[in-house]
Amino acid sequence: MSRGPFLLLNEGRAIENLIEIKGVKHAYSTKAGPLPVLDGLEVAVPEGTFCAVVGPSGCGKSTLTRLVAGLMKPDEGEVWLHGERVRGPRKTVGMAFQNPVLLEWRTILENVILPLEIVAPTMSRAKRVERAMELLEMVGLKGFENKRPSELSGGMRQRASLCRSIVHKPEVLIMDEPFGALDAFTREDLWQTMRELRAAEPFTAVLITHDLRESVFLGDQVIVLSGRPARTQYVMNVDLPADRTLDVLYEKPVADMLSVLRQQIK
Ligand code: ADP
Ligand code: MG
Repeated sequence: MSRGPFLLLNEGRAIENLIEIKGVKHAYSTKAGPLPVLDGLEVAVPEGTFCAVVGPSGCGKSTLTRLVAGLMKPDEGEVWLHGERVRGPRKTVGMAFQNPVLLEWRTILENVILPLEIVAPTMSRAKRVERAMELLEMVGLKGFENKRPSELSGGMRQRASLCRSIVHKPEVLIMDEPFGALDAFTREDLWQTMRELRAAEPFTAVLITHDLRESVFLGDQVIVLSGRPARTQYVMNVDLPADRTLDVLYEKPVADMLSVLRQQIK
């Protein structure tokens, strides 16, 4: 197997980047001619890191998620996942979107179990249910497992969708503005749940968002995409305690980070 690029840490230990995007350029073909969207995308996400990506609307954030998931091939440059060049769709990527697509004819439990049916066909029914229930309990949906999606609020549906995205322990969870359609209170509740999930079960994540506060609260690293066509403008390491609570958003270090991020967005 070919090995991907490596990041050298201070201690001299070589740690593989789970995701590595190098020199990616991409243009969409439109009736009016090529529309250049990305022109110099550089992203390196070490295993276990939660990487938030921010940037103005239309700068190519969703395009980035399609590249990592292998749903699209860049015109130029390379995308690596876990030491392998991405050349097509991968089952080991979990995805979550702004409007979760839950199957209305299935219960919440059966929705969450779905990826296990695809990725782990030999896993017993009892084990699948156990795994799904473990996550549903973590996000506060115990007792709702036999409801249909339409019986739940938007926030609850997004919680169920997050469980479904990680039930099969994907190599990486890619989320494209998953909290964008929620009201401010529900959104902050979900930020907190997201951190609890991570503490219970570490995973590598790429979170697309246009909410700078969300990027700093959830991210270990924030990447700013900016310009037209966009490139990686700025990378910030978020230096906040791992057990941060929402209160941290009202403290000075966060205000300073937000002002730096704001200046980088063009
Ligand atoms: P973001 O998610 O940051 O809002 P997108 O990656 O969705 O940005 O899109 C970047 C730009 O590319 C936008 O101008 C969008 O209109 C255009 N675009 C996206 N997908 C396509 C496509 N399939 N064909 C043509 N243009 C597209
Ligand atoms: Mg988008």
